Amino acid sequence: KNFEELGISANLAKGIAELNIVKPSDIQNRVIPILLGDKTHMVAQAQTGTGKTAAFGLPLLMKVDSNINDVQGLILCPTRELAQQVAKQLFKFIKYADKVFIESVYGGEHIERQVSNLQRTTHIIVATPGRLIDLVNRKAVDLSKVKTVILDEADEMLSMGFQKELDEILSFLPSVENKWLFSATIPHGIQQIISKHLKKDADRVE
Ligand code: AMP
Repeated sequence: KNFEELGISANLAKGIAELNIVKPSDIQNRVIPILLGDKTHMVAQAQTGTGKTAAFGLPLLMKVDSNINDVQGLILCPTRELAQQVAKQLFKFIKYADKVFIESVYGGEHIERQVSNLQRTTHIIVATPGRLIDLVNRKAVDLSKVKTVILDEADEMLSMGFQKELDEILSFLPSVENKWLFSATIPHGIQQIISKHLKKDADRVE
């Protein structure tokens, strides 16, 4: 099957084709049909380089309504580099699709600039957990309408010491329907997060 046959829009498929993403990878084949559903909870064990960014990014972009000016999607990443890379990929995916506004925020850069960037229309935030909490505390970001939250490289976020922040963020999101956790490994701390925040019958893909 190609991406359109998996349920991805023609406009997104055209954007990714320019990146030579034409034939879905194994993880994309298995998770995209599930993540296009409603109220989806998923744990996917996926290494980097397998195409996981498109595996969660395309279903997320399919869910965002660009006519609504709310933050609807939140992607949490362990590092500034990954956050920037994910945001950049999503931006390329939407070249021919509806104008979805994606913002990345992370530590190690002046927070004031991120605060002012977030005053513009933002549909998807790609963030490191600590900086996101700083921004929430400054009331620079409204996460109350987030419908989809994605943990990318969850085990790495744990290694960076973000377990408390992840728990705090996941406990807060009042409108969240979809929770997608991607991790290369499932150590104890990640299992704790899964048990506390995901449905018992969450889909599992290895
Ligand atoms: P990721 O695992 O998301 O970091 O992706 C690793 C690399 O694989 C990126 O450069 C993607 O552009 C590329 N990629 C993702 N999906 C596919 C695909 N289905 N076919 C070919 N390349 C892909």
